[in-house]
Amino acid sequence: MVVMKFGGTSVEDPAAMLRVIGIVKQQAERIPLVVTSACAGVTNELIHLSNTVLAGHEMQAIEMLDKLRYRHLGILGELVSKENRPKSYKFIDEIFQDLGNLIKGVYLLGELTNRSLDTIVSYGERLSSFILSIAMEETGLPVVLVDARRVMITDKNYSAAQPLLAQIEVRATEVFQPLIDEGKIIVTQGFIGSAEDGSTTTIGRGGSDFSAAIFGSVLGAKEIQIWTDVDGMMTSDPRIVLDAKRIDVITFDEASELAYFGAKVLHPNTILPAVKRNIPVRVLNSKRPELEGTLIVEQTTAADQGNVTSIASKKGIIVINVTSSRMLLAHGFLSKLFTIFAEHQKSVDVVSTSEVSVSLTVDNDSGLAEIQKELEEIGEVRIEKTKAIICIVGVGMKHKPGMAARIFNTLASFGINIEMISEGASEINLTLVVDDQVVDEAVRVLHKDLF
Ligand code: ASP
Ligand code: MG
Repeated sequence: MVVMKFGGTSVEDPAAMLRVIGIVKQQAERIPLVVTSACAGVTNELIHLSNTVLAGHEMQAIEMLDKLRYRHLGILGELVSKENRPKSYKFIDEIFQDLGNLIKGVYLLGELTNRSLDTIVSYGERLSSFILSIAMEETGLPVVLVDARRVMITDKNYSAAQPLLAQIEVRATEVFQPLIDEGKIIVTQGFIGSAEDGSTTTIGRGGSDFSAAIFGSVLGAKEIQIWTDVDGMMTSDPRIVLDAKRIDVITFDEASELAYFGAKVLHPNTILPAVKRNIPVRVLNSKRPELEGTLIVEQTTAADQGNVTSIASKKGIIVINVTSSRMLLAHGFLSKLFTIFAEHQKSVDVVSTSEVSVSLTVDNDSGLAEIQKELEEIGEVRIEKTKAIICIVGVGMKHKPGMAARIFNTLASFGINIEMISEGASEINLTLVVDDQVVDEAVRVLHKDLF
């Protein structure tokens, strides 16, 4: 079997849903388990709606709720046959009645806990999955809608609940497996789950990828497909490098390095359960299903490894230089320095050290003034804003002598000054800090040279 996860934009309207059905149909013999997000924007709207009513704007909330109801009825109406219309419209109306009651409860109590918010937002996925399953059934596919809350057991940390894998595995065997054995196509929800007491939970925004990876891994899927609205992961940001190409195969580690740079087609952590069990994850575009997407695997073969896999960048970086002669031959200095960052819960990204100085980067200035004050107690501090990070990622760089030289030469020949360098022990990434002003050009010339 395979798991096919469809993101919000893949199910945003009738045309998108029909494309999804076509995609599922094409792979029907692989017995897909379909995991869906809420229709695009619906989760946000449900949160907004809840806050609106909490603030006492009852009428506005009712209007928003009506709009959501019409949107879902509209999608359903386009996809369902006359005979099935009354039954399915009734289901939607019932859902909105429940939702309306919950919203009223928030209004009356003047209180919105994470627990109640989870129940409210869960309706987004429950609606989209219902509509998708009905529409699929209409085309003759052997579909069963299964409430993901029967399988996705989590702790009670509402809004960011942790899935409990051992229990999910048991439930998946009990609930999903028999249906799969019968050759049924299961449609279920991403993002939502339930605690052991039966209360509804959600596993964090954008959590549907995580749901798909978990279901796929406990079921031992052949492949997990993440259907989204981009062609896959790219060799660089196409807004900067016009001829950036789709990456065919990327390792999990490479994808993790890139995630920080907003090359965030999906967050790698969310597919960790799949990678751990060696299940390939493929990112695909539901608007262009004929493309092969990007395959994310544990390890790539030499044949798949070019010079580098991708070049990413990030602007608005702040470099903090700390110089101290006390560092020379002393111990405990770095520990003191990083403790200051840790105590301010400030995440540090790139680090490079010499005997008497440390340079590090952060990506925003919150808390920076206090951190600076404390750092000044251990050394001389110089802060440079408007910097940028370039990250060159590729397992192919490993053991390939001359790559760094080539990169430095390319930048030097365009007069681009490198201000900081860091290469991880894993040798799969080389990180550079340059001036904000020249970063786009730097990425372009590197891309041209390395691809
Ligand atoms: N609908 C949820 C969200 O928007 C989960 C998801 O789309 O993955 O966060
Ligand atoms: Mg989403």
